[in-house]
Amino acid sequence: RRGRLAAHGHSVFAEMSALAEQHDAINLGQGFPDTAGPDAIVEAAVRALRAGHHQYPPVPGLPGLRRAIADHQRHRYGLDIDPDRETVVTTGASEALAAALLALTTPGDEIVALEPFYDSYAACATLAGATLVPVRLHAPDFTLDTRELAAAITERTRILLLNTPHNPTGAVLASEQLHEVAALARAHDLLVISDEVYEHLVFEGTHQPIAALPGMFERTVTISSAGKSFSFTGWKVGWATGPADLVTAVREVKQHLSFAGGTPFQHAVADALRLPEEYFTAATDSLRRRRDLMTDGLRAVGFAVRPPRGTYFITADITPLGERDGMDFCRALPSRCGVAAIPHQVFYADPDAGRRYVRFAFCKRESVLHQALERLEKGL
Ligand code: PMP
Ligand code: GLN
Repeated sequence: RRGRLAAHGHSVFAEMSALAEQHDAINLGQGFPDTAGPDAIVEAAVRALRAGHHQYPPVPGLPGLRRAIADHQRHRYGLDIDPDRETVVTTGASEALAAALLALTTPGDEIVALEPFYDSYAACATLAGATLVPVRLHAPDFTLDTRELAAAITERTRILLLNTPHNPTGAVLASEQLHEVAALARAHDLLVISDEVYEHLVFEGTHQPIAALPGMFERTVTISSAGKSFSFTGWKVGWATGPADLVTAVREVKQHLSFAGGTPFQHAVADALRLPEEYFTAATDSLRRRRDLMTDGLRAVGFAVRPPRGTYFITADITPLGERDGMDFCRALPSRCGVAAIPHQVFYADPDAGRRYVRFAFCKRESVLHQALERLEKGL
């Protein structure tokens, strides 16, 4: 196979979901909730369909959604964003990432990213002709050593690509680390792309966007998605915010990727961003309970786990079970136990790293998680 991305292989999420289906396994691999988001938001999408909103939205997204995004950033984080010039709606955070990386790098540039990293980062870096330079997060809590980040910066570095809360580890960058990263970005005049799709899934403290730190708004593109915050992963509505010059560059690329999309869903997501605080608190509380359930449950089965501080993913060390290779383990798990998970090693530049870790998604009903834990208990 010769395609531009041949070296990146196929998506592990698709592979593990297919195995789950084949073996009728509980799919704790690919991260998607098994319950829908709020009824009122589903109704808003239905209303938009019935109102006849079937044609292309404007390239940057519906004005009403862009106002809701700007208001959300102001209300939560004190960020003053011009909805007309400083927001762009995308086909999921995936397109925002791709468009930002393509727009803001030139071939030969280096992109420094936290490792393990979400699989599309490396693929998009390759599409851009740029090099992804990984900076390892350190087990057991997957912490960043900002001295290592500093050491990874070279003359060719153009972008720091952050992700907090972090997929797959569930780590959240501490405030002092964000300040240190920001200081590095300013000192080396770097751009930051900050993937904050899990901004609402933080179990201790509150989410802090790096764009809100002094001198950072003008150099940061912040990315988020309705998929994660409102449990509508299949709607594929995401967005990016940042200063007009960077957002304009992202829009220029985006118009040639999808052009625009998802008109009725964009109407509904505008309503979702204006949901009352109780929605967000209840969603986090419910996920925190499920995090605790999975932490205790996986420990009881024999994995070594630490409770994640954010996201709906929990990382389990398989070595206490006498297992050595996460990929082998995850390929066998659906037939062996009737459960699917994702091996960490696909999120590393060097697949040997991360071999001992697997990721379970806990955005499922509690009864389903109990059942999965029972199956693991029996099968392992
Ligand atoms: N970034 C991260 C860290 C993710 O986990 C995901 C989705 N799993 C995305 C981006 C892509 O988001 P979307 O589904 O909105 O395209
Ligand atoms: N972002 C989700 C995950 O990490 C789904 C990814 C995908 O299916 N591409 O599981």
